[in-house]
Amino acid sequence: QTAELSGLPAGVADHLREEGIEELYPPQAEAVEAGVTEGESVVASVPTASGKTLIAELAMLASVERGGKALYIVPLRALASEKKREFERFEEFGVSVGVSTGNYESDEEWLSNRDIVVATSEKVDSLVRNGASWIEELSCVVADEIHLVDDANRGPTLEVTLAKLRQLNPALQTVALSATVGNADEVADWLDAELVHSEWRPIDLRTGVHYGSALHFDDGSQEEFAVESGDNPTTALVSDTLSDGGSSLVFVNSRRNAEAAARRLGNAVEDQLTGEERAELAELAEEVRGVSDSETSDDLADAIANGAAFHHAGLAREHRTLVEDAFRDRLIKAISATPTLAAGVNTPSRRVIVRDWQRYDGDAGGMKPLATLEVHQMMGRAGRPGLDPYGEALLLANNHDELDELFERYVWADPEPVRSKLATEPALRTHVLATVASGFASSRGGLLEFLERTLYATQSTDPGRLESVTDRMLDYLERNGFLERAGEDIEATGIGHTVSRLYLDPMSAAEMVDGLRGADDASALGLYHLVARTPDMWELYLRSGDREKYTEIAYEREAEFLGDMPTEFEAERFEDWLSALKTASLLEDWASEVEEDRITERYSIGPGDLRGKVETAQWLLNAAERLAVELDLGPDVVASISAARQRVEHGVGEELLGLTGVGNVGRKRARWLYEAGIETRDELRNAEKSVVLGALRGREKTAETILRNAGHPNPAIEGEGVEADESAAVE
Ligand code: ADP
Repeated sequence: QTAELSGLPAGVADHLREEGIEELYPPQAEAVEAGVTEGESVVASVPTASGKTLIAELAMLASVERGGKALYIVPLRALASEKKREFERFEEFGVSVGVSTGNYESDEEWLSNRDIVVATSEKVDSLVRNGASWIEELSCVVADEIHLVDDANRGPTLEVTLAKLRQLNPALQTVALSATVGNADEVADWLDAELVHSEWRPIDLRTGVHYGSALHFDDGSQEEFAVESGDNPTTALVSDTLSDGGSSLVFVNSRRNAEAAARRLGNAVEDQLTGEERAELAELAEEVRGVSDSETSDDLADAIANGAAFHHAGLAREHRTLVEDAFRDRLIKAISATPTLAAGVNTPSRRVIVRDWQRYDGDAGGMKPLATLEVHQMMGRAGRPGLDPYGEALLLANNHDELDELFERYVWADPEPVRSKLATEPALRTHVLATVASGFASSRGGLLEFLERTLYATQSTDPGRLESVTDRMLDYLERNGFLERAGEDIEATGIGHTVSRLYLDPMSAAEMVDGLRGADDASALGLYHLVARTPDMWELYLRSGDREKYTEIAYEREAEFLGDMPTEFEAERFEDWLSALKTASLLEDWASEVEEDRITERYSIGPGDLRGKVETAQWLLNAAERLAVELDLGPDVVASISAARQRVEHGVGEELLGLTGVGNVGRKRARWLYEAGIETRDELRNAEKSVVLGALRGREKTAETILRNAGHPNPAIEGEGVEADESAAVE
């Protein structure tokens, strides 16, 4: 009974009951039994949608009630705001919530008066590096989706961050939430936590495979499900669910497939919509179209008008939120998604169809089956408690062998164990420097002792490996001037400290330092290329024709590049150089006011990718600027980096930078004002209102807002005598 919960802020237990949480689910009861509300560390390895969040909430609320402070670590930025919104319902009981969204290299002191802080693992890592004082006041830390320590890219950060937090406060309560994995006991061992392991789900989940004219289920039963010839099993299954009043989630292996599937699903779903739904969907489609000027945006809007949507990382954040909300409200009937959605926000649905169980893997040079854990996570999205009688998750087989294989690989199989990925060069390059720079170790021995606190050490049967990679990375960091060693002692240099605080991969920093020396009159393209070739910027692949195109540009603009250009005989380095040039060209286009839809088309990317590139470039150029100051490279270098950064930030030519700082003046409006002879904020403030209004195509509201933002003492516009409707439609 939730009524029996003790140790929570007054009123919380009643509030939970009002939400319909009358009784704890069995795994939740087990966690309470294990002492999660009394400060005990717990690892909860429980299926998706079985109430893990409440376990974390109970732990955090009880900790706050005892006068403590809690931190909730999420794997994705999108989840941070979702969790914050969820936790904010406790604010009426005096519990304050904050989400850390600041730039790297800030300590966000304002968070020190929040009871619960939500942040990604990278953000927490950076806060620790920047010495945020409140980190030491934490009494409870929650790690959501802890099984992601297995992820080669991001796992090590979570692992090292937890080790640091636990070193800072040995009494820290650690609550780790995990999908059901085979070796949750090892994770519990590592965190000195009690293990709650359960297969219980609040709603039945049937899993199975469609093959031939039947659905074959995990319990051995079969159900007839014939697909008419020429029909596609996915759309047939989605229509079937919908005619029963349920929604479907379809997982596919690429963005392009997600988009194509949404188009088909829309056609299948469309004729089952009511008139009211059509009207609401049409409205939503318009909203989606307004998010960005791009083909992706239009395609998404078209699918949504028919009641279906696609979801992948190429979408802008606003797109994704609109889709997720409308699916939860049951307005959108089917989503085709890439696997990113499975790891993402809460979007349960009646039926889940895992259409593609293999994915192209660049490293393997071919198709590779998805991990069992990943498919189980997707399947776990099936069934909405209280709404659906049960959830159903299906794979699709094309022949009898595939039917057997899918049963063995996914339906009956246990998920893979979680394995630490810490002992790799890229992970240790970064974390060795940060660990030393932020004072967690000051000698080789101290460093190795610190690394003993990681999952890697708990699991390893080969401790020599961690030691030898660590030694190699110490050499690398010393050689590049980030660390100094005297005997056993290790110290970070000034620049080493800066690199750690800026959250740069030391290899990125080394590349930048090298390129920036002698960058007196660097062009924007040269600087964009410099940051694009660091390991902190993800690559754009070269497609057919790109090699020739960018080789030509490389020679044409050779003088602009910083550092040595590899020759065509160094095939691999040259290839990387060209793909960085592709990114640099994209950034240059953006900073030269090329339209968003032209860019997404030219580089075959989505609007979300463009924004991601722009954000990363901004961060890296800001870091480059800091390094240039630190290295005393002179005011000219600093100024050119700063201009290149601001151009990327606003997507404009240098001459518009005097205007883009004014609120509501985007790249288009800045250009219009400039063409009307208004070049700076001051000129805007003192301009004839009629000129401003004319430049803004007669939009009075916009003109007033912009004048106010520019500091105009009397921005009201009345009867300025411009024919408003003549040009109002141009925008
Ligand atoms: P998980 O984090 O394990 O994926 P969630 O925490 O999102 O799952 O829980 C899924 C849903 O179950 C949420 O909507 C939550 O409000 C609801 N829920 C959790 N615990 C209970 C409970 N004890 N009784 C009723 N509903 C619950």
